[in-house]
Amino acid sequence: MSSSMPIQQAMFKELREKSIFEQAQSYGFDYLDQVLDRNIYPSEQGLAGLTHFDEKMPSSSSPASAVLAQLQQYGAPATVAQLGGRYFGFVNGSAVPAGLAAKQMATFWDQNTAMQVTSPIAAKLESVVESWFREIFNLPSSTVAGFVSGTSAANLCALAAARYRLLKRLDWDVNEKGLFGAPAIRLVLGDQAHSSVIKAIALLGFGKNNIEWVETDEQGRIIPSALPPLDEHTILVLQAGNVNSGAFDPFAVLCEQANKANAWVHIDGAFGLWAGAVSSLKHLTAGMEKATSWAVDGHKTLNTPYDSGLVLCTDREAMVSALHMSASYLVAGQNRDGMFFTPEMSRRARVIELWATLKYLGQEGIDQMILNMHERALQMANLLKTTEGYKVLNEVVFNQVVVCCETDEQTRLVMQKIQDLRSCWVGGSVWRGRTVIRISICSWATTAEDVAVAVESFAEAMESYGL
Ligand SMILES: *Cc1c(COP(=O)(O)O)cnc(C)c1O
Repeated sequence: MSSSMPIQQAMFKELREKSIFEQAQSYGFDYLDQVLDRNIYPSEQGLAGLTHFDEKMPSSSSPASAVLAQLQQYGAPATVAQLGGRYFGFVNGSAVPAGLAAKQMATFWDQNTAMQVTSPIAAKLESVVESWFREIFNLPSSTVAGFVSGTSAANLCALAAARYRLLKRLDWDVNEKGLFGAPAIRLVLGDQAHSSVIKAIALLGFGKNNIEWVETDEQGRIIPSALPPLDEHTILVLQAGNVNSGAFDPFAVLCEQANKANAWVHIDGAFGLWAGAVSSLKHLTAGMEKATSWAVDGHKTLNTPYDSGLVLCTDREAMVSALHMSASYLVAGQNRDGMFFTPEMSRRARVIELWATLKYLGQEGIDQMILNMHERALQMANLLKTTEGYKVLNEVVFNQVVVCCETDEQTRLVMQKIQDLRSCWVGGSVWRGRTVIRISICSWATTAEDVAVAVESFAEAMESYGL
């Protein structure tokens, strides 16, 4: 192989010699060796090291090994130990080792999942995983899946499909005519709907002011009697897993009302839909299979690596019409072309690690892993109830625990202290008008020991203020 360009020569050499890949792997292994025991949030020193990235765009090339070394030296210490068992912030999720390893393999494949012809393996796995999701959640056989970056994107796609369908019923092709002058369609949301749903509504041009809000109960569940009359021009958005309390809307009764009226029901089930995959928690999602579309993450409860979410929809024609694109050079395959189900054309093959995670865990593994999250959440709540100064505010039905101290100010101070201690990480929120600490158990790695260590940290934080 001869080349006159020095950079090309260097790249052929790197590809053949593989030493930079060994270097990367060795750094990765060092990381894995520490991730269960290290401080959860980066140390002050780790954060200070980030200034090493403040440099001008380099004018000349650098040795690849030096690029990796910089990431290792100053990047790794500024990561959050999300893979371990004591990161309880947001609802983030860890990653199952088999999924991480599959993602590493897929890195070498570097596939584009736009079309079957760009990656037969990715197209195959997408159609297999699509059918596995139908099975896991008992969804109608017409359900199709789009493999997107997360639930924000999935909510957007589902609502775009709903917009297409509902306007089509009014003889209005939104793709051709747009929204100016379009007949009105209605949006009905619980007042605890996730901000990503509201963002999707804004992006799609519905206008936030047009949302009809429905009252929720003290856990954040829609109160069925508060539902306005629905009709076939209405999108009803429900939630499986409130981001604070983890509560579930009562799907059976709400879906029944919606189905009678021929309304479109979308369920935002980012992390909570997975309760439906666990034999002893299934009751939480009873009736959810009667919706029209769903958004769910792989990267939260299922613990696939980031980023991974799915939009699922029973109305294939509406999905494809909303997200379709065509151009003379595109070659539609006989089976599945991923780009017809997502906003993007080119996408990485995130389905590879999703498939690997499902294949590795199987139904049994999923059941055990998610049930453990629930049991650890119960343990956390029970321990905190007997820890001086803390009060648990929610019914722990799934994996979320909402706690507070005597006053909002105390809650803020104590949470800051817990974060500074770094033996776990929890974030803040506002729940029913109160400042709260939100604890989300969503890592496969969380053990009873991790929960005990975290609760010690809560106690230490409280004592440090003498509250
Ligand atoms: C996390 C979350 C989202 C957003 O999902 P991303 O994967 O972060 O885009 C939407 N809804 C709920 C209920 C969530 O918990």
